[in-house]
Amino acid sequence: MPGLCAKVHALERVTVGRVAAQSAFRPVRFVPNAKLTRLDKLAVAFDALALSRLTGCLPPIAKIIHGPDYTVTAVRLPKLVDEAQSYIAELRAQQASAALLPVILNKHCPACAFQSRCHQVATEQARVQRDLAGQGRQSAGLKPARMKARPVVLSR
Ligand code: SF4
Repeated sequence: MPGLCAKVHALERVTVGRVAAQSAFRPVRFVPNAKLTRLDKLAVAFDALALSRLTGCLPPIAKIIHGPDYTVTAVRLPKLVDEAQSYIAELRAQQASAALLPVILNKHCPACAFQSRCHQVATEQARVQRDLAGQGRQSAGLKPARMKARPVVLSR
């Protein structure tokens, strides 16, 4: 897919219709967690969407093999693929816009390899916002507020 890249874990060949010679591929994804999340399902829908751009055929079902017992779950794709496409459209619109998105730290950051980089960028953004707010107060004839530059942290 132009501008996007999917790392499909595996493909399963399935027969299409009643003719054994006709076959299609559906994506298979492996995840360690026992309970599937919406994100897991969206990820396999994204795999299917990327695959369909190559093959010209969107499979109706994908598979996720998950948890310590290697549970196999069939995931119905049409609605999830629509959702994945709307997220892709949103991402493309964000990429096309000139505005830089703010870095928002979250509960996964402590385990992330990019933590120090993101923290640095978020702190710098908070400093710039604080300075801009201070300039606004000054031009309005107000005393500058004493504020620390704190990065935005998402607590959910
Ligand atoms: S450190 Fe950065 S890339 Fe990693 S989870 Fe946090 S915001 Fe996302």
